[in-house]
Amino acid sequence: MVSPWQTSITSVTARQSGAQKVYDCLVVGAGITGLTAALTLQQAGKNVVIAEAQQAGFGTTGGTSAHINTFADTTYAEAESAFGEDGAQLFAQAIREGYDLIVAWQKDCDFEVKPGYLYAETDEEVKLLDEIYQGAAKAGVAVAYADKVPTPVPFKKALLWPGQAQFHPLKYLQNLQKNFLAGGGLILENTRIESAESKDGLHMANGIQARAVIYATHTPPNINLFNFECAPYRSYVLAVKLKNGKYPDALIYDSQEPYHYVRTHVIGGEELLLVGGLDHKTGHEDAEKAFAGLEKYVRAYYNVSSVKYRWSSQYYVPVDGLPYIGQMPLAAKGIYCATGYNGNGMMLGTVAGKILADLILGKANRYEKLFSPSRIKPIDSFSEFVKENADVAYHFIADRINVHETDSLKRLQPGTGKLVEVDGKKVAAYRDDTGEIHALSPVCTHAACIINWNGAEKTWDCPCHGARYDINGKVLTGPATRDLTIIDTHEN
Ligand SMILES: Cc1cc2nc3c(=O)[nH]c(=O)nc-3n(C[C@H](O)[C@H](O)[C@H](O)COP(=O)(O)OP(=O)(O)OC[C@H]3O[C@@H](n4cnc5c(N)ncnc54)[C@H](O)[C@@H]3O)c2cc1C
Repeated sequence: MVSPWQTSITSVTARQSGAQKVYDCLVVGAGITGLTAALTLQQAGKNVVIAEAQQAGFGTTGGTSAHINTFADTTYAEAESAFGEDGAQLFAQAIREGYDLIVAWQKDCDFEVKPGYLYAETDEEVKLLDEIYQGAAKAGVAVAYADKVPTPVPFKKALLWPGQAQFHPLKYLQNLQKNFLAGGGLILENTRIESAESKDGLHMANGIQARAVIYATHTPPNINLFNFECAPYRSYVLAVKLKNGKYPDALIYDSQEPYHYVRTHVIGGEELLLVGGLDHKTGHEDAEKAFAGLEKYVRAYYNVSSVKYRWSSQYYVPVDGLPYIGQMPLAAKGIYCATGYNGNGMMLGTVAGKILADLILGKANRYEKLFSPSRIKPIDSFSEFVKENADVAYHFIADRINVHETDSLKRLQPGTGKLVEVDGKKVAAYRDDTGEIHALSPVCTHAACIINWNGAEKTWDCPCHGARYDINGKVLTGPATRDLTIIDTHEN
């Protein structure tokens, strides 16, 4: 399911092959992180090549809701309790730096500054809101209590975040791409990097040689430490048309768990209300139910005439609340990564591009230590860490011992997918609209968990680490790099 950002742009010309010399840096992934890093390095005089598995903007940058905020999902109060007052302040400054870099680089991308409102509907939420206010004020972030919020939802208390912003993420990305190509950069599309071999300070992947590698892949490929430190979540968005034209001129968020947000965007000349949220761990809940829940919510409060778009995408929740940006742990020196942005990758992906460029250029960067992927986790995060991994362990074992209903291929309806049993073996089967069966091994090629069917996206999603595959088993989202095995079912 593609987002309206992805349908409303024409792609910039990129190349399928042609890397020849030794590059200063190979950037893997052309989302906001990769393009920001690549352009920053290029502007500092470095030769950079980007390898992208699909096309620029294919990943979460193409499925984001594109809010540009001065606050984050990990509240400054939470950051303070895990990383101290200085850590929370530095986190706030990093978010702000990402915001400011977007402001400096944005051009022809529907960029608009708007007020942001966060409101509480229950006493418990009010308590949280007060903590958020105090944490933000202490971290030096502009925030105030608000009496009025442009929302039809009754609320008890609200915060105003002045000077928030929004944009069309792929128009923004295209501008970075154009500048990078105009500066002599090379973007290789349809080029998936499985791994890099390192020798004598040089890294080699897919015939490309580089002195440094950045995995700007949202989550680094293959088995790595982040499989245990970041949990994949899916998040849902609808873009709806209103009958009365009363579109709010603000970014508005509630405090429910899972939460909802609304904002307005003109897409293809049409004013639309974006409503999003209802996030859950990838592969754990029914996507159709989430879309239905969002639609029910927006229809309860707004005069909706039609749902124009619906899409979902994936993000990664870091176990201790802050992103991991820097030298990749347990990898050769000069291999970098950036992951664990939560729902704040516009600012964090942008600042990550700058941090990684600084590290490669040998410049000091004040966020290096705070975001170091090798940092020792604070004690606070331990219970969360255990919870995420207990969940992975559960899927690894339970999915193998018959937790899924078995079924015969014959009962599989067109347009649906299911784990079925064929000749005593579990098979991931999808029947297309012509009746043809696409049967795959259900074992994720990343860490051998059992995949689940995602009916809304028509994909196979791994509940452990978030790898996703299309109906023919092709990798859509890492950390997997190898396709699922195709199975001949001999249906007759
Ligand atoms: C629904 C939703 C709404 C969101 N809303 C917001 C928001 O309002 N504000 C905000 O700040 N953040 C938001 N986020 C988070 C934000 O969108 C992401 O954090 C951000 O887009 C991540 O950017 P990225 O460049 O790191 O990764 P991506 O955009 O995912 O780019 C990674 C690229 O790497 C490529 N790739 C992967 N593996 C390989 C490989 N092995 N070889 C080659 N290429 C590879 C992929 O194809 C992809 O194009 C939202 C997330 C979701 C899911």
